[in-house]
Amino acid sequence: AASPSKRYSITLLPGDGIGPEVISVAKNVLTLAASLEGIEFTFQEMPMGGAALDLTGVPLPDETLFAAKQSDAVLLGAIGGYKWDANEKHLKPETGLLKIREGLKVFANLRPATVLPQLVDASTLKKEVAEGVDVMVVRELTGGIYFGKPRGFGKDENGAEIGFNTEVYAKYEIDRIARVAFETARKRRGKICSVDKANVLEASMFWRKCIVEISSEYPDVEISHMYVDNAAMQLVRNPKQFDTIVTNNIFGDILSDEASMITGSIGMLPSASLGESGPGLFEPIHGSAPDIAGQDKANPLATVLSAAMLLKYGLGEESAAKRIEAAVLDTLNKGFRTGDIYSSGTKLVGCKEMGEEVLKSVESQV
Ligand code: ATP
Ligand code: MG
Repeated sequence: AASPSKRYSITLLPGDGIGPEVISVAKNVLTLAASLEGIEFTFQEMPMGGAALDLTGVPLPDETLFAAKQSDAVLLGAIGGYKWDANEKHLKPETGLLKIREGLKVFANLRPATVLPQLVDASTLKKEVAEGVDVMVVRELTGGIYFGKPRGFGKDENGAEIGFNTEVYAKYEIDRIARVAFETARKRRGKICSVDKANVLEASMFWRKCIVEISSEYPDVEISHMYVDNAAMQLVRNPKQFDTIVTNNIFGDILSDEASMITGSIGMLPSASLGESGPGLFEPIHGSAPDIAGQDKANPLATVLSAAMLLKYGLGEESAAKRIEAAVLDTLNKGFRTGDIYSSGTKLVGCKEMGEEVLKSVESQV
């Protein structure tokens, strides 16, 4: 391997359930792919979620957040499990997730939904529709109706009981998510579709105006706009038309789940959450899968692909990221499958063996 010219520090948060198993695989893959590109990592493993609750009494210890903030990127496994399900809200493992997103000020959530040719049969859509789908949903994560004020319960002018929330976006919030989305589209196929409800909502009219303004900074990226109801329909009718979708918090919540269901492979889907500067947070979209934890059955590829996103979107190390993506495809091409993506005629392997096969594929690349 080349002598290291670049060094980064990575915080690993294995978490609960299958988290430690998939993080261990991703760590090895990350180390090898990076070393072939002259990159060296130092890893710091910190407790979070249920594991941290048992150890320290809180789901996100100060030491963990501090370490995460000091590092160049954070790779998270999964959080939660039956053991803590009955806990009060502030003592739930999942509270740690919200706290670390807050602490790292990550306002942009990137969720790719890719239908790999080897797994096209897992898709919930017809083969012709699913084939070649590769869409990235860029969701605003820290604003909009989930956080807007006023909110609450009350009475209207006639005394009827009401519940209410407010969709609010400031220009700086839209501008910064727009820039992340345009930069993302540049690293992909150069096309953005901004999704809103500008025919009904003032907040969406404002959203669209800001997106149009920012688009002038990116003349190389093709921009279009779509109402969310139409986008929800188009995603299942003809998902291939999309490259990068940018949208607000609530629409992104819904559309990113819809997009992931198209692929039908929860064990394969990574995510990235990015802030203005400072470390990004990278994690598989699946949960801690307590039903298969500790049995060497977990599919580590969602976490391995999250590590690739860490390299690409977190550190700008695109060639190391490509090595990992190519190795995952190569491993699937050789027929290796964990239980969740198994089909007849393929080779069933466990989490560890899948990891070893990916390492071989990284190694064998020229
Ligand atoms: P969350 O924890 O996000 O609220 P959840 O608990 O409903 O979601 P998961 O923990 O993701 O969902 O598990 C849902 C199902 O998918 C389970 O049966 C689990 O075993 C399976 N699953 C999830 N991730 C993986 C994986 N990486 N490999 C294999 N199976 C998985
Ligand atoms: Mg879960």
